[in-house]
Amino acid sequence: MSVYEIGLRLRGKTVLVVGGGTIAARRVPRLLDAGAHVRLVAPEVTTTLGDYAASGELHWDERPFATGDTAGAWFVLAATDDPAVNAAVAAEAEADRIWSVRADDADASDAWTLASTAFDDVSVAVSASGDPSRAAGIRDAVAALLRTGDLDAPRTRTRRRPAGVALIGAGPGDADLITLRGLELLRQAEVVVSDRLAPQELLDLLADDVEIVDAAKLPYGRHTTQEQINAVMVERALAGKFVVRLKGGDGFVFGRGAEELDACLDAGVPVQVVPGVSSSIAGPAAAGISVTERAIVHDFTVVTGHVPPADPKSRVNWDALAKSNGTLVMLMAVKNRAAIAEALIDGGRDASSPVRIVENATTKNQTVRGCTLETLGSTEANHPAVIVIGAVAGRRREL
Ligand code: SAH
Repeated sequence: MSVYEIGLRLRGKTVLVVGGGTIAARRVPRLLDAGAHVRLVAPEVTTTLGDYAASGELHWDERPFATGDTAGAWFVLAATDDPAVNAAVAAEAEADRIWSVRADDADASDAWTLASTAFDDVSVAVSASGDPSRAAGIRDAVAALLRTGDLDAPRTRTRRRPAGVALIGAGPGDADLITLRGLELLRQAEVVVSDRLAPQELLDLLADDVEIVDAAKLPYGRHTTQEQINAVMVERALAGKFVVRLKGGDGFVFGRGAEELDACLDAGVPVQVVPGVSSSIAGPAAAGISVTERAIVHDFTVVTGHVPPADPKSRVNWDALAKSNGTLVMLMAVKNRAAIAEALIDGGRDASSPVRIVENATTKNQTVRGCTLETLGSTEANHPAVIVIGAVAGRRREL
């Protein structure tokens, strides 16, 4: 079955969608995105479609399909769960010479919705003789190539690079947990200032002429490393280079992202922030621990343990944490875990509270150890580790 591929420019044109179930819900967002005036005819609709109707983004006729409904439409989607109704919709459209898609029957359909993807200003649509899953698979492969720029080399080379600094959260460890936006910007970097905890495989993607500054190896001199990092970023950006500051997890969770942001803003350097997947949530998740669970815990607190509780420099209210029953997620707490456990027990946390220590979360070296608050101090733990304390830790699922 061969098709003639065209791109419909639907802006301002009426599109009739008959049926308000999951298929319609999947198609409608793209139609709205293309600027179509969507008229939905269905006695009942999904919550999402109902929300569109309530906010005026589409018009909903709350009733079954009726003769004459296709009038005025440029394009029709028959997406009810009743083949007879879909056939009637398609027949009426055909009689009016309106192109229509029958969601339930590719053979009987005048037009097909192709598997499509868009990236930057390119869109690609795939049809595979009516085999939707094969089309979707090829679409996904093309989408991946588009994102890496491999398919579009001349353009990638001439594309205007972003300017200034991008503060990018690189995710908790596994290289493919960086966001799509983070990866795209990283590929355009001319200078990368990297951290020890940022996935090192990501640096392999960079061309040889990209300058990689290893933040851990910067000399201290008269300044702290953080001042050095800020200075390198700002200096390279002011010299016209596009600088990526690549940080483990999310840069704003114990990542000094705020200080780096300030340094850029103070220097008048354009700066963008790309959030990352933080080890504070992803670490437990990768080990089968949900930091909240509807039936038992309604809050979680992410705490740094790099300052012990009794230290005058501590800014954490350990007593309040001890009295709460929420989940505690401890970062940078390996060294001080005994003192932390003691402070929590002294403050009222049950000594038998379950604890899980997740080391090297999301990487091939991930390990998980279990203990209780009472035995935390004497249980082995190695950096980097996320320590989860509370009822959810005891409900870990084996993955
Ligand atoms: N900004 C980071 C956290 C930086 S603080 C984030 O959002 O994830 C560094 C601490 O994060 C480590 O001491 C450790 O507690 C935790 N951490 C980071 N990556 C980790 C990983 N892969 N596994 C376990 N803990 C990790």
